[in-house]
Amino acid sequence: MRDGGCAIPGCNVRATWCEIHHVREHSEGGETSTDNGVALCWFHHRTLETSGWEVRILNGVPQVRGPAWWDPHRRWRPVDNHPLWMRKRVGAHRTG
Ligand SMILES: [Zn+2]
Repeated sequence: MRDGGCAIPGCNVRATWCEIHHVREHSEGGETSTDNGVALCWFHHRTLETSGWEVRILNGVPQVRGPAWWDPHRRWRPVDNHPLWMRKRVGAHRTG
């Protein structure tokens, strides 16, 4: 069973060892109470600004975009290993 963990694809750090990176939902103006968290391991959290990874929340679904060396098309893709406390927010969203 997948119990969630670091939002970066390919990173298998468990949720219990992750920190919460707070992301504002831009689609709602960046205000209100949409102060959502995405789990990132300490490494990806600290290198987020320099590594080329980007994290956002769109319609309650956390998404990540990889650096050009990882994804030349730089597509946003839903985080499929977000932990339980995020899963309840996304409702009907399913991956895999
Ligand atoms: Zn990580």
